[in-house]
Amino acid sequence: MQMFVGGEWVTAAKSTEVRNPYDNTVIDTVPRGTPADVQRAVTTLVEGAGKMRKLSALERSQLLRRAAGLMRHRAEALAETLSLESGKPITDAQGEVSRSVETLEVSADEAKRLVGEMIPLDAAPNGAGKLGFTLRVPCGVVAAITPFNFPLNLVCHKVGPAIAGGNAVLIKPASDTPLSSLKLVEILLEAGLPESAIACVTGAGGDLGAAIGEDDRIRKISFTGSAEVGTRICQQAGIKRVTLELGGNGPVIILDDADVEAAAAAIASSGYAYAGQTCISTQRILVTPGVADHFLDALRPRVAALRMGDPRDPQTQLGPMIRASDAQRVSDWIDEAVAAGAQRVLGSAPQGTMLAPAILDHVTPSMKVSCEELFGPAVAITRCADVDEALRLANDPQYGLAAGIFTRNLEHAFRFAREVDAGNLHINWTTQWRADLMPYGGLKQSGLGKEGPRYTLREMTEEKLVVLHS
Ligand code: NAD
Repeated sequence: MQMFVGGEWVTAAKSTEVRNPYDNTVIDTVPRGTPADVQRAVTTLVEGAGKMRKLSALERSQLLRRAAGLMRHRAEALAETLSLESGKPITDAQGEVSRSVETLEVSADEAKRLVGEMIPLDAAPNGAGKLGFTLRVPCGVVAAITPFNFPLNLVCHKVGPAIAGGNAVLIKPASDTPLSSLKLVEILLEAGLPESAIACVTGAGGDLGAAIGEDDRIRKISFTGSAEVGTRICQQAGIKRVTLELGGNGPVIILDDADVEAAAAAIASSGYAYAGQTCISTQRILVTPGVADHFLDALRPRVAALRMGDPRDPQTQLGPMIRASDAQRVSDWIDEAVAAGAQRVLGSAPQGTMLAPAILDHVTPSMKVSCEELFGPAVAITRCADVDEALRLANDPQYGLAAGIFTRNLEHAFRFAREVDAGNLHINWTTQWRADLMPYGGLKQSGLGKEGPRYTLREMTEEKLVVLHS
């Protein structure tokens, strides 16, 4: 495929192969964009931002609704592309496409609800007789830098609200999974988005990052990815609005009064879906003594039964990791934990990108499988003395994206909600649950700002105050 720069589909001097992580076959090639491509894209987007600003809320909403309709119509083909480039099982890819339609539709709804507020100026000593209100206006040019693991929906979470707010958008998709973004651009153009209002520059983040971060014509960067790259983007951004959706190490507490079978069934999915490569994957299990053995007995057969294989097969539950080096890294961290005293309940060495699902027991908080973001198909069980210790350990010093607790005790549930500092807290569920309309984002090193179209729209618009002096 070509990339979309300066209002047209273009190639570049160099290209990059997009490979299927399952069998390493080449699916397509995309241009390897350069900083000059970013600059050219932004020049056109500045012009496009002027056009977008003039569209009414109704026109922006209708445009997004048409795009959602086109996406629904092409759902099958999009799911195939998404599955091929990411290695995500086809049933999960189909789920991601339906969520992407939903994200665009919610963005279309929110375009109609973008309002400022009345300010009670007459409550100020000098405000008598004055009328004050705020207006929300577009940021102008927004850059969306996105990760490999949700190559369509996470792009829609940025592009949908950006359009709803009247902005022009530069997409920099993950280098491993650029095809879904390019197909989204085709859909948006067909839905009537001005050609100058969208660009998609494919290529390596390391090549393009500085050109995006340092361009002052971009007013807002919305980034989803690793904490390491997020930190670099903040350093480069200067005076720009930045939203960061970063990683986590998902803790789930299981207390003695929990429904252990329900917890085990949920974790057998949330610890291993898309080979554990989701930011809210369940990674750390903090279990109290009365149910620890029962929980492990309930989890082990469910995880052992997960079907590994070709992501194109609808029966497959666990496909490949994105790169063989990632499968090797996860395996090394597991070996390191075992060498330090953890017990391997399930798991084996990787074969290329395929890594069998693993369970580790007797993990201590300082082991990498616990304190870092593992991002692989494994869970780490830590046995805690009581609820106090479980709550203390759930509060990771570094990350705070999502956390879960299984308990029938309301007091413990409320303590969890009050005391655990994570952006999304689930009572009687795991870390892995999201409705696309809800506010979503992490605390601490897990990020800054919120996504969910209504909340992103606030981050992708600016506020002006107007005072009418009588
Ligand atoms: P990554 O940080 O390696 O890459 C993310 C994006 O940044 C890609 O488009 C990449 O090309 C680009 N990039 C790389 N170097 C750059 C640079 N120097 N400047 C600018 N951009 C650069 O992340 P990934 O491996 O694609 O995704 C996995 C990470 O994303 C995990 O940490 C995961 O937790 C996180 N994630 C978070 C959320 C969330 O909503 N909080 C959702 C999905 C993924």
